[in-house]
Amino acid sequence: MTKRVRVRYAPSPTGFLHIGGARSALFNYLFAKKNNGDFVFRIEDTDVERNVKGGEESQLNDLMWLGIIPDESPMKPNPKYSPYRQMERLDIYHKYAQWLIDHGYAYECYCSEEELDASREEQYARGINAPKYDRHCLHLKEEEKEKFRKEGRKPCIRLKVEDHLTISFEDMIRGKVSFNNDDIGDWVIMKSNGIPTYNFAVVIDDHLMEITHVLRGEEHLSNTPKQIQVYKYFGWEVPTFGHMTIIVNENGKKLSKRDNNILQFMSQYRELGYLPEAIFNFILLLGWTPNEEREIFTIDEAKIIFDPKRMSASPSMFDQRKLNWMNAQYIRKLSDQEYLIFIKPYLAKVVDLEKYSDEELLFMGNMFKEEITFGAQIIDLLRPLFNYHLEENDEIKEILNLPSTPMVLHCIKHLLENVPDLEADTLKQLFKNVASETNTKGKFLYMPIRLKLTGQMHGAELVKIIKVLGKKEVLSRLNK
Ligand code: GLU
Repeated sequence: MTKRVRVRYAPSPTGFLHIGGARSALFNYLFAKKNNGDFVFRIEDTDVERNVKGGEESQLNDLMWLGIIPDESPMKPNPKYSPYRQMERLDIYHKYAQWLIDHGYAYECYCSEEELDASREEQYARGINAPKYDRHCLHLKEEEKEKFRKEGRKPCIRLKVEDHLTISFEDMIRGKVSFNNDDIGDWVIMKSNGIPTYNFAVVIDDHLMEITHVLRGEEHLSNTPKQIQVYKYFGWEVPTFGHMTIIVNENGKKLSKRDNNILQFMSQYRELGYLPEAIFNFILLLGWTPNEEREIFTIDEAKIIFDPKRMSASPSMFDQRKLNWMNAQYIRKLSDQEYLIFIKPYLAKVVDLEKYSDEELLFMGNMFKEEITFGAQIIDLLRPLFNYHLEENDEIKEILNLPSTPMVLHCIKHLLENVPDLEADTLKQLFKNVASETNTKGKFLYMPIRLKLTGQMHGAELVKIIKVLGKKEVLSRLNK
């Protein structure tokens, strides 16, 4: 019987869901779904000082927003694997660390920071440029330990890394990868405060939670030999690893969380009015290539066609223009009802929603549906209609001072007073009539009217603006 596929996304709750984390989660999720397996959400919160309040909750909410629904999580635990937060599993790590000590695979280390620093300096002085722990405490006798404890020293636990060993594994994305253990010093598995380090806790958890595949970011590649060493000591089966390439910006530089030119957090996109389906689709193509030409895929399609063999081993570029294009595609596909729900929060920034019917609000939104790439753009597009402000620049003055302008304005006022309704056909006819009565066209006809109505040279179609403003408001603005 083949093992049930189980994968996990294991964020540290040190911040909000970032594009890189979202990608790890997404590929793990698709891999699980494609193989009828489980997608586990686990919290790696051992770096206590860096944890932020609400970090776990926001990570989970953002994942769900994207449509990535964990099968198991702290909120939805399977008793067989609980708990799902590392800080609630400390006794488990202790037990396994003790087992390693008992079998000679790990040992207590009483060295102080100062002693470790001194040893490093001494190694540098000898020309060693990647110093390692000098194994001072590897063979401590019980009475020596006792003496250290009396001095008030608290030990950490180090793994005794096997010497002269090459650790190799078949990476799902990169193929065979090898590391020489001699480059790895005896690393700390349990800190003196009793909290495990990431590389140790992750192995215990992945094993106990029966994780079969680990898809994660390239930054973890060099951690993998350390983790495999722990699996070997316990005699446990090693999961299959896959390390996804870095995400780079348009200049080919690794995306840094501090790079303010690119929005990198899911919450930022959500607030600006990006659709989760579009972000999902965009991230799907960040390091994975479909076996066909098209680029638009629903989540359900992705679950079927996702093939980890098509994950790229070269850096993936974060292309904001492509994301905008994709979001625009998804916005256009929304039904009236969906679109109305989507734009209401942005309309609310410009108008009092209570004062308009859903039909009127939809009309306002539809004025820009084909134009916007994300929801919040509606705010700036609509604002001139409601917060009238005429700029005083030369170009505007020139248009308002055209000899034909008074005539055009007079004529449209007159004709508008008598139209039966403000439907598009009626208004188009009205403009034709103004054109022929005043013998104007193009900017001579439209610009003075547009400026009077919105104070801006550009914007939505005039017939739509008139409908949104209503006859009374239009006449009052034309009269100003
Ligand atoms: N907590 C680790 C991180 O956020 C998880 C790494 C892993 O997937 O092993 O990077």
